[in-house]
Amino acid sequence: MADGPQLNIDIVAKRFAVLPVPLMVDLHLEVAAASVVALVGPSGVGKSTLLRMIAGIDTDFAGTIVIDGVPAATAPPAGFVFQDARLLPWLTAEANIRAVREATTPAEARDLLGRVGLAGYENAYPHELSGGMQRRVALARAFSVNPRLLLLDEPFVSLDRHLVTEVQQVFLDLVRDTSATVVLVTHLPEDAARLADRAILLTGQPARIIADIVLPGLRGTRGAAEISRLIDEIALPSSETAL
Ligand code: ADP
Ligand code: MG
Repeated sequence: MADGPQLNIDIVAKRFAVLPVPLMVDLHLEVAAASVVALVGPSGVGKSTLLRMIAGIDTDFAGTIVIDGVPAATAPPAGFVFQDARLLPWLTAEANIRAVREATTPAEARDLLGRVGLAGYENAYPHELSGGMQRRVALARAFSVNPRLLLLDEPFVSLDRHLVTEVQQVFLDLVRDTSATVVLVTHLPEDAARLADRAILLTGQPARIIADIVLPGLRGTRGAAEISRLIDEIALPSSETAL
């Protein structure tokens, strides 16, 4: 499968009428094809908004966001895991995956469930699945929409520690297999240190990039000492300049 797309984000200004100052001014970011970039920053800085703009859902801004040369609003839809992602409780795991993309066949949905370690759970309803299993279905659902470009908004929050590790491993395996381009929004430097190739720190009003850190070594294989050193490196500038 071809590598995921390159993203060219050139935001001149993004405003919400209710906010006294623009949310973003002159925000520029290039995301390399097949890379995992973590967007780290405090609550309210605009991470979810930026993700919706990259997804082409929010087009109300000055500037351009281009995905492999195509404006985001007309590019193939990205696979998206929303911050408050919930599976539809009245649909099975398989039907939840098929609900977001008509062309997905039952066989394809089952194959995706197998890839997230849920073979045999096609007919399970969300309430029959653990929190970690539900997140894995949400990841599979995003992959079914677009395995090349994934936009993930806090996909590991409010899971028990051991489930976080489990879901993160599923994420790493899927992304490695497909060479997807991923923008991963998180408020935790630790997620970036474990899972990303690069960490972008956003802070302020308007939001600006205060650090752009290329993370050494291979994502998913960094040792505990390396991860804790990187957490400090990522966390330090952001804690100095809280919103
Ligand atoms: P984050 O994901 O980093 O916590 P958000 O992108 O959700 O931040 O929100 C950034 C700011 O924009 C917040 O002040 C929020 O209230 C505001 N905001 C987000 N969405 C809307 C909207 N649809 N209308 C008005 N204001 C919004
Ligand atoms: Mg958010």
